[in-house]
Amino acid sequence: MTETNIAPVKLAGVKVHPFASVDELLNCVFNSDGEISPGMAVAVNPEKVLKSLEDEETKAILNGATITYADGIGVVKALERKVDRKLTKIAGCELWLDVLNRSKNYHSKVLLVGARAEVVKKSAEILLSRGINVVHYMDGYFSDEQVVLKAIEKHQAQIVIVAQGSPRQEKLINRLQQVHPKVFYMGVGGSFDVLAGHVKRAPALWIKYNVEWLYRLLAEPKRIIRQFKLLKYVYLYLLNRL
Ligand code: UDP
Repeated sequence: MTETNIAPVKLAGVKVHPFASVDELLNCVFNSDGEISPGMAVAVNPEKVLKSLEDEETKAILNGATITYADGIGVVKALERKVDRKLTKIAGCELWLDVLNRSKNYHSKVLLVGARAEVVKKSAEILLSRGINVVHYMDGYFSDEQVVLKAIEKHQAQIVIVAQGSPRQEKLINRLQQVHPKVFYMGVGGSFDVLAGHVKRAPALWIKYNVEWLYRLLAEPKRIIRQFKLLKYVYLYLLNRL
């Protein structure tokens, strides 16, 4: 697996690449000839950092990825303190579309795996209409993952996007990598549902002012328990223990 040329920083034992822009990250995925760097990109947010403190598997998944990026203002702030320069938050649900947009330049072959059948179908149609070379798609409820392995081979996929939620998608990607190490993989959680219009993101202003979490909390109050857990992250940050 190729590593990026941006040196990672450790945050509570988790390796995160301090990107100043999305372009910086995209340049790690595609070289100037359009060749794709094999590996896996994974988002790191405060929840995953906390989880990796007590769960070795989560930590191993994050540290095994070739590209880890800060998807959460809490991670950006903690990284900025370590590298002493301005960084950017990269939202996974936007990044995969940026990766696919860039892939158009090189006509890279894209395979979509995940979500319900009608959702992935709709996602594939939308991406094809935008000129992205989606060579195949399949829902995320297969019983035998051989079908995914065979599809990668049959369609010679170069980019595989998996939308099954964490950590299921990352574990699947790890197994796919064993057989198909030259592919670039990305886990995107519920992003196919968002693209297909089944789930709405927060309005742009809430995202801009970094309060998307508050919007989601108001829309789904049972998330409050998750938010309380994140106080531990704030505490560790304030004590400079991350
Ligand atoms: N999903 C799937 N296979 C499964 C379980 C879930 O394809 O066995 C899909 C589900 O349809 C949804 C996504 O995975 O599209 C889960 O998204 P979620 O919002 O839970 O993930 P997160 O973004 O929170 O990681």
